[in-house]
Amino acid sequence: MPSDLSTRVTAPHDPRGRLISIFVGAVLLPSLALSYVSIEFVPQLAKANKEMGFRRAANTLADIEKDLARAAQARATEAAQAVGWERLLDGREHVIAIALETAGFDGHIFETLHLEGASALRRGWTADARSIQSPRDILEGLEPIPPRTEDAMPWVDSAGKVSGVLRFRFTPEFIRERLIPDYFAHDFPNPDQSIVVRVTGEDGSVIYETAPTRDNRFEVDRPLETPSLRGLRLALRYRDLSIEQDVRRWEMGTLALIGFIDLMLGAGLFLAYSNVQREAHLSRLKSDFVANVSHELKTPLALIRLFAETLELGRVPTEDKARQYYRVINKESQRLTQLINNILDFSRIEAGRKEYRFAPTNVGRIVSEVLEAYRFQIEQQGFELTVEVEPDLPDVEADSEALGQALLNLVNNAIKYSRDTKALALAVRGSGDRVLISVTDRGIGVPKAEQRKIFEKFYRGEASLVHETKGSGLGLSLVEHIMEAHGGSVEIDSAPGRGSTFTLVLPRSQKKKE
Ligand code: ADP
Repeated sequence: MPSDLSTRVTAPHDPRGRLISIFVGAVLLPSLALSYVSIEFVPQLAKANKEMGFRRAANTLADIEKDLARAAQARATEAAQAVGWERLLDGREHVIAIALETAGFDGHIFETLHLEGASALRRGWTADARSIQSPRDILEGLEPIPPRTEDAMPWVDSAGKVSGVLRFRFTPEFIRERLIPDYFAHDFPNPDQSIVVRVTGEDGSVIYETAPTRDNRFEVDRPLETPSLRGLRLALRYRDLSIEQDVRRWEMGTLALIGFIDLMLGAGLFLAYSNVQREAHLSRLKSDFVANVSHELKTPLALIRLFAETLELGRVPTEDKARQYYRVINKESQRLTQLINNILDFSRIEAGRKEYRFAPTNVGRIVSEVLEAYRFQIEQQGFELTVEVEPDLPDVEADSEALGQALLNLVNNAIKYSRDTKALALAVRGSGDRVLISVTDRGIGVPKAEQRKIFEKFYRGEASLVHETKGSGLGLSLVEHIMEAHGGSVEIDSAPGRGSTFTLVLPRSQKKKE
């Protein structure tokens, strides 16, 4: 932070400092914080999301395996019950096959199917069938035996007691051709088809696929551990976007959102900055204004006093001189009146109390009145005056006093800002449904860059030629306000060194604003 900025932030008594504090607190710091979050945390969160996505997919596969094992057990139980416990206990394969076929099952769906008596259970282990919740409960009841290649489940007798263990193993054909397709066709919960599951055999051949896939980019896979299903693998992928793509999309979306917020904050930063600049500019203009006005009040007052005292003491040599002194007093008091009127009008406008009294007004008459007030000054200073008023102009709805005030300000400026070439031209003419009053001088002119600014309150031209003449910077802002109140405008056509034309544009049938 530059030292100038840091002193301003810690100097809240200074209005600029206050604004800069607001700007730093409300815009700069949040935007830095957001940028930090986006750089530091978003990638971390994305990584965590990705890991979670993979974990969720792996869990889904584990659930599918459990479901498949449960489906296998249900089929085995059904078949075993059809065969009956005596035959199962007896264990002769062809007897069991015949019993299966008789009951309507394919005799070759099992590689093994037999029942072990209660001896297979741990000594003292008894359980009610209803209390058995998962295959794990059953395995807990079994004597510890080396890993088996068969599935095991409790055999529940007609009294509802667990009286043995049913062991079975389906043939690979049954698993491939019936169990797996049936499970995925009827029991697999995937309503929106958002995931694709593939089952592959030991040799990698595809046994089943929930949807056709063009490539082999499956996200997670899992070897199946359940004895009947051992040797098979399950693989999963998401149909639309891979976990990686999904997380990248989230990451991009979040970064874009943060970027957008940063951009908005940047725009806020720019607005706050330009506001600070404006405020600073205005406060400088205000202090210049006080200095200018004090000077403008002092000079005419000093002149008036000097000439009045001289006259009072009778120290005037000739009658002519005396008349000249009276004129000076008159002119200077006119200047004072004009300045004070401007200030009063300005304060009324600022307070929203300026009222206009509109009435049909003859524009030509207003021009004559203003010229009358300034005639002496114009002639005295050697101005070449031209006045052209188009005849037969209709009256316009206007506040004659305000309009006179606006015109007076323009004439006053034309005189103030003329140097060697002293020429003043006033023209009144109609143009379509408007009446135009223009005041032209051949004075110092206004550079293009300043032609909007000079209508702002307190603004005075930057050129040193302007500062040779004192002023308050209020005149043109009043002119603009008055013209807007009349539903019109003020236009400028000017170039430095060439002179200026200010034109008051009045609509003939204007809408009253106040
Ligand atoms: P002031 O004359 O008291 O400075 P104004 O609001 O009347 O205030 O004018 C603002 C500025 O516009 C002036 O400071 C001057 O730079 C410029 N300006 C106004 N009228 C003229 C003119 N006729 N010729 C050149 N510059 C002008």
